[in-house]
Formats: sequence, structure tokens, C-alpha cells
Amino acid sequence: MASDPNAPTTEEKRNARVILRRLIKRYPQMKTALEYENAWQLLVATVMSAQTTDENVNKVAPTLFERYPTPEDLAAANPEDVEEIIFSTGFYRQKTKSVIALSADLVERFGGEVPRDLDALTELRGVGRKTASVVLAEVWGTPAIAVDTHVSRVTNRLGIVDSKDPVNAEFRLRSLYLKKDWPEISMRFIQFGRDVCDARRPRCWECPLRDRCAYEPKAVRPS
Ligand code: SF4
Repeated sequence: MASDPNAPTTEEKRNARVILRRLIKRYPQMKTALEYENAWQLLVATVMSAQTTDENVNKVAPTLFERYPTPEDLAAANPEDVEEIIFSTGFYRQKTKSVIALSADLVERFGGEVPRDLDALTELRGVGRKTASVVLAEVWGTPAIAVDTHVSRVTNRLGIVDSKDPVNAEFRLRSLYLKKDWPEISMRFIQFGRDVCDARRPRCWECPLRDRCAYEPKAVRPS
């Protein structure tokens, strides 16, 4: 059988693992900063975290979950009431629609239980591969890689991924790393993207991955 021409080389895999090891050294414990008590709450919180900080979500989530403690409750919520609670997270109308719809789907199709399966999760309205992967990796340590804007930017700059398409990037990362490492990956690249490899001002001068990075020209320390 012919070998896959897109399969990473041994050297590419080795390089990717060196990068991950350094990120694990920098961030030994990596959990989401979102506060949650069960998989459904993390699902809802992750949807609310789009285009805002986890801190902002944590400020409104307790009120939301106190008012609507189960998927059944949120599925039956009046959208205006939910909008009022999550207003400060931005894009609150769309987010309200999504969290109500995903809760309704959960009740209708999965008896209110969050499925532990990527394909089943992405069948829920408002839940994409990224959100589904975050929940699978975070709650159950299920092998999954969530590719968001940080993961996409950092891995492309490093040169271990060569695609802006998140699904292509996810499959490339899957091929570079052993399955047991998948849950370790996303949160660390996300944090690294926030701390060091910023979208507009990457801190290349103090970057621990500089010698592994294909991005040019490297940013210099502002004088
Ligand atoms: S060297 Fe610069 S561009 Fe490359 S990973 Fe580090 S911060 Fe990002």
C-alpha cells in the first residue's frame, strides 16, 4: 500500500514533540479558567466565552446556572431573561440563542446528558468542533484537539501546521502527536498565544520556542 504523502516525517513529529514538551514545562498544570460543575455547564460557558475573556464568563455564569440549574430549565428559558444575564459577555443575542438551542437539543436527543463523542456533540446547535473538543478534553480527558484562533496562529507561525483552516489544522496536529498527548495540546497553545505569541505583538525576543519557529521576521523588544 502506498504511504500517505501528507503524513509528517519523523523529524516533523520529533520537532512537534519538543515544542509540546517545552509548553508542558512552562504550563505544568493546564485547566480551563472557566468555572463549571458539570459537562453541560462547561459546554454553555465555552459557548459564552467566544470573543470575551474567561473571567467575564465566570462573572455571569453563577447567576445563569442558579436561575437555570439544568439543561431542561435553560431549554425552556425566556430568551430576554437570558440575554439580560449574559449581556456583558458580548454577542449576547447570538449566545443566548445558542445556549438555549444546545440545551434543548441535549434534552430532546440525549436525555439531558452531554454525549462523550465528538460527532454527537457537534450535532448540537451552536456547538462546533472547537467547543466539543474543549469539553471532551477538559471533562473526560478524551483525546481531542480544539483548534481556535490562538492554536491556529501559533502552530502556523511555528511552521508545524500550514493551513488556516481549523479542521485541516486539527488533523495535522492529530498526525503529529500521539493520541495520549492530544488532551495536553490545545489549552497550552491557547495560553502561550495569549502570553507570548500574541496576534499583533508576539514577544519573540523572550520566546522559549524561538529556535523552533519559522515565523519571520521575529519581533524585537521595543526600545
Ligand atoms: S518566536 Fe515569535 S512568532 Fe515564533 S512562536 Fe515565539 S513569539 Fe510566536
